[in-house]
Amino acid sequence: MVSTTEKDGATWYRCDECGLMFDAESDAQTHETNCDSDDDSPSYLQ
Ligand SMILES: [Zn+2]
Repeated sequence: MVSTTEKDGATWYRCDECGLMFDAESDAQTHETNCDSDDDSPSYLQ
């Protein structure tokens, strides 16, 4: 999911899956949809 974070007086949107930060909520939500990849995690993480 996407979390909101206050930084330098601005609101950022953080992807809880990978930690990427976005300055636009729509960008974060679009990313998070594509980032929800529990089913195909890279094999090197296992
Ligand atoms: Zn992500």
